[in-house]
Amino acid sequence: MERVEVTSVTHSQGVRMLFSLMTPNESSFATVREVPTYVNQATPYFIGLILLEIVLGWLKTDGPHIKINDFITSLSAGMMSRLPQLVIRSLELSAYIYVWNNFRVLELPWDSAWTWWLAFLGVDMGYYWFHRFAHELNFLWAAHQVHHSSEYYNLSTALRQSVTQQFSSWVFYLPLALMVPPSVFAVHIQFNLLYQFWIHTELVKNLGPLEWILNTPSHHRVHHGRNPYCIDKNYAGILIIWDRMFGTFTPESDKVVYGLTHPISTFEIWTVEFLYYPYLWQMFWEAEGISNKLSIIFKGPGWTPGKPRLGDIADIPQLTGEEKPHDPAWSPALQAYVLIQFLLLIDVYNNLLMDQMILSELSALLLTAYVLLSLTSLGFLIDQRANAPELEMLRCVLIVALQRFGYIKPLVPLLAFLIEVFVLISGVYWSLQFVNQRTNGMKKQN
Ligand SMILES: [Zn+2]
Ligand SMILES: [Zn+2]
Repeated sequence: MERVEVTSVTHSQGVRMLFSLMTPNESSFATVREVPTYVNQATPYFIGLILLEIVLGWLKTDGPHIKINDFITSLSAGMMSRLPQLVIRSLELSAYIYVWNNFRVLELPWDSAWTWWLAFLGVDMGYYWFHRFAHELNFLWAAHQVHHSSEYYNLSTALRQSVTQQFSSWVFYLPLALMVPPSVFAVHIQFNLLYQFWIHTELVKNLGPLEWILNTPSHHRVHHGRNPYCIDKNYAGILIIWDRMFGTFTPESDKVVYGLTHPISTFEIWTVEFLYYPYLWQMFWEAEGISNKLSIIFKGPGWTPGKPRLGDIADIPQLTGEEKPHDPAWSPALQAYVLIQFLLLIDVYNNLLMDQMILSELSALLLTAYVLLSLTSLGFLIDQRANAPELEMLRCVLIVALQRFGYIKPLVPLLAFLIEVFVLISGVYWSLQFVNQRTNGMKKQN
């Protein structure tokens, strides 16, 4: 396999890239191969800011604005959404390179600050239109609704990303490929995504004059709201000017109630990621006549026959102000267990992303399967499903096997030993739970 060197970002760049504070000088490259994997390298900075938000939230009298079940579900979605890139190169980049190679009309210099700024604006406007279509076309909403499914609003919400969104967003950046080199695009498509992390917080209230130009926590809170005044507003990525120009801007006013108008009330990751597709399929077959069927696909998610293209705001469920997020009780011990297992998983996932170029195909495949199984099993545990113990028992066996055969390598050998003991005890506990369930089930049948 061909070896590709990964360019590492410095700590200063790691922090600045999250706020779109990188300069053209330090982020212009001649070829796509030289472009750092900024997003993959952002994990420690995401974790640092999330911890900071938790601490600051705690220092405020009303306690932390974060729940372990919602937090892990958001991070799980983020992890799942990046797994396809282990197998296929990002579609956004592949399609872009294809258009550049075959149809470019101009070849702007990759090392000019003008090209860099043009790409900054072009990618941000492309994102605005992609995002707007993702809300206004039901079949694109099927992917994007994942990002809106949390009923909380904190930094972890930013990571709640859709697996399938990447299969449609690439179209919106192709006009740029007629003149801006792929290496410049490859930088900005990552910076645009990274900027959108820090705006997912309730801790930053108002940024004064910056609110005129930038997309800020306040503007994006509105975008995540299900209050009538928030619906289909503030689609911006980095610059809010696009919403002001194209008539979709609205400032924050009433207290925002977050999430989908019809909350999904689950933490099980496959449901979170894919539940809208069977729903869309069902709506499509139930609609009468070809015109209604096409409308189900191509009009807004709120559309019903006889209504305007984007539906009627009066049709969405009324808010009482008493809305409580879905948060079923679960024991502190189970919460601690799921959290520890999730942190161990993040370490494996991070190594998988960082080492993807040097891992053998078998290793990459095994670790991807392990990550998927873990996300599924931990989701089952959070949702407290009946078949959670048997899946978790299997997962514990797999962890020990992967560690024994050297596919999982913890930071220090002592940690490897401790993890093995912890996982073995956990495995025994889950098998006892499983046997217990079975015997109880048989007793009931008799
Ligand atoms: Zn959105
Ligand atoms: Zn968001």
